[in-house]
Amino acid sequence: MEQIVRNIWNSHQILLASHENPDGDAIGALLALGLFLESIGKKIIMYNASPIPAVYNFLPCVDTITSKLNSVKPYDAAIILDCGNIDRVGEMADKISRIPVIINIDHHITNTLFGTCHLVDPEACASAALVFHLINEMGGKISKDIATCIYTGILTDTGSFRFSNTKKRTFSICEDLMSCGVEPFEVARHVYGTYSLGRIKLLNMALESIEISPNGKLSFMTLTQKMLKETGTHPEDADGVINYARRIEDIKIAVLIQELEDNHPATYSNGSCSTGSCSDDKYHVSLRSNGKIDVAKIAMAFGGGGHINASGFTTKAGLGELKNMITEMADKNSELCIAN
Ligand code: AMP
Ligand code: MN
Ligand code: MN
Repeated sequence: MEQIVRNIWNSHQILLASHENPDGDAIGALLALGLFLESIGKKIIMYNASPIPAVYNFLPCVDTITSKLNSVKPYDAAIILDCGNIDRVGEMADKISRIPVIINIDHHITNTLFGTCHLVDPEACASAALVFHLINEMGGKISKDIATCIYTGILTDTGSFRFSNTKKRTFSICEDLMSCGVEPFEVARHVYGTYSLGRIKLLNMALESIEISPNGKLSFMTLTQKMLKETGTHPEDADGVINYARRIEDIKIAVLIQELEDNHPATYSNGSCSTGSCSDDKYHVSLRSNGKIDVAKIAMAFGGGGHINASGFTTKAGLGELKNMITEMADKNSELCIAN
């Protein structure tokens, strides 16, 4: 923490970035820290490789997040938020990693501890919670806007305070955030309140697609590009649908397989793609479990990562092959899946 604070004070132009296909935490942590650094006079740019899902449009200054970076030359430091490895930043990862000081702020158990210094705490409920601690450490003031961004990160990453990462500390941070002016009802209204008709139809298709593995332990949902086209929706409209597959009685692992667009942007420009996504990957796979089943280990075996109960990866494998591989891995190697 001290090293990070020192590096921030010593830097003039700072690039902040979070993972592609951002969730509420990736956007909330990015905006909260960006707004704070601006308030103390730093020149900053907030970068995310992907479009911001419409439900987050209510967040302050969300339209200042850019997906275009011409050059990384002006920046003396980069702060990478909510990324288990630097490739999660997306297509600019190579260039960004050349910035002289890289600060890694994250809560994924699979974090590779990349960068010059890191604030990585797998016990933290959200990267936004780590931003809260960092701002306090710097003696900073948390405005209502900053507090709203942090709260949004915590609300979404804890699945509205339902997942196992919800701790006593989570509520104590949220109590402080409310003292800074956060209105939980307003945030929830924006994040969960209004769905397009297309999103509801997509949910219907996702539910229709549920299959249970022969051993009865895994549930699979599959979403295709055709379904997105038919319903006029985007990948982020599938946020949270995997939780239906996770809730089914006796299911140990829920799997959501989402077909990627042809020629979607690759993480790597140099053709190597041992981690992160490659342009010829066919599917993004999300894994969820309850309790002690460690799906981060399965995701890592496929070159991805995440948390014990929520992880993901992208793959070139075909649909049938993919389902068989995941089922076999979970079945034959039950020890692989048990968190220690
Ligand atoms: P998702 O299933 O995409 O919602 O992701 C679940 C968790 O796994 C999140 O914490 C992600 O940051 C992480 N994750 C998803 N995809 C990848 C990947 N390709 N590499 C590393 N971590 C990932
Ligand atoms: Mn995230
Ligand atoms: Mn997170």
